[in-house]
Amino acid sequence: MSAAAALRAKFPLLVANPGLHYFDSAATAQMHRSALDAVVAHETGARANVLRGSYRLAEAADRAYEAARQSAARFLNAAADEIVFTGGTTAALNLVAQSFGCLLEPGDRVVISQAEHHSNFVPWQMLRERRGVELALIPVLPDGTLDLASLARVIDDRTRLVAVTQCSNVTGARTDVAAIVAAARRVGARVLLDGAQAVQHGPQDVQALDVDFYAFSGHKCFGPGGVGVLWGRAELLAAMPPFLGGGGMIGAVTEEGYTWAEPPRRFEAGTPPIAQAVGLGAALDWMMGLDWAPIHARESALCAALIDGLRRIPHVRLLGPEPSSARAPIVSFDIAGLHPHDICQVLDAQGLALRGGHHCAQPLLAALGVEACTRASLALYNDEADVAALPAGIVRAIGVLK
Ligand code: PMP
Repeated sequence: MSAAAALRAKFPLLVANPGLHYFDSAATAQMHRSALDAVVAHETGARANVLRGSYRLAEAADRAYEAARQSAARFLNAAADEIVFTGGTTAALNLVAQSFGCLLEPGDRVVISQAEHHSNFVPWQMLRERRGVELALIPVLPDGTLDLASLARVIDDRTRLVAVTQCSNVTGARTDVAAIVAAARRVGARVLLDGAQAVQHGPQDVQALDVDFYAFSGHKCFGPGGVGVLWGRAELLAAMPPFLGGGGMIGAVTEEGYTWAEPPRRFEAGTPPIAQAVGLGAALDWMMGLDWAPIHARESALCAALIDGLRRIPHVRLLGPEPSSARAPIVSFDIAGLHPHDICQVLDAQGLALRGGHHCAQPLLAALGVEACTRASLALYNDEADVAALPAGIVRAIGVLK
């Protein structure tokens, strides 16, 4: 059995759909059996609310939830009390924009890039409206990579936060995080990484990355949907006021007012996504046990082969940088005269699942000169048969649609 086939066998949806060529892992990766099993085991063996009950079932739920926090901490090389469970990357980014954002003053600058997903764009535009902070953009070059030559100009001494994606969900371009961190540190600014597209390619080390905040979603790294993680440095979380008020986040409440709990509880108001967090913990544990070097080599080879296959098709314009280790296996392309929705529909009829549209990155697409594009994203369970099927499918789609 090939390495990809052995991995694929652990994904129940792929096992149930052997003819499916799944190319949309950048939107949602398939769920690993260990995550699914952990959710079922939790829901059938330890389902209770957390941090409220003193009966044994509730204590089991507490233990499972906190064990998931420990797994997320190990996955990021961070301390467990710096891990906040959220509803996903979007919720984590909004949390920072609200809670860290309210420490900013009018005239302070937040820097993002033109390559951001809307979830790392709109919360900062909303903060600009709310607090009068200035929002500045690191521009992209024609291949979608960040223009690092602009950093000294854009990240000026009024900059308090630089919030960028670790990897573009459209072009697969990986950000040169060290360059961003160096430019931010020169002016004393904090750095937030949107790790949504990085986490499905292996564990991360926030200490080595030397950033201050890190956000990701469970459904992008083989875990359940509805759960995500915000990691923040302890001293930053401690200085931030809560975003949502409610149960669990308080010290005490009187008719006159309330006090806050310490982080991470301060940022987990209400009943959290408990079983989802437990499932995510299992997915992360599984990922931490993998040997990633051969997986990366295979993903890169498949990505290069896919690009090569697509380049041979007339009318196909590829977006993004040349294949290299600085590119995640995400390939977006435009076919002159055809709408991505039509292309995706014809491909779907051939068992090829791709996403077409603006990919929640309209400023990036505008900079690249397209309104919409078709995206193929690969994960560790994709194989040579997938990569061979796609160019052939596109040739057929062009034949049907042109
Ligand atoms: N950032 C990036 C780079 C993404 O790709 C995505 C999901 N497409 C998000 C943020 C938002 O993630 P979620 O929808 O899980 O909150």
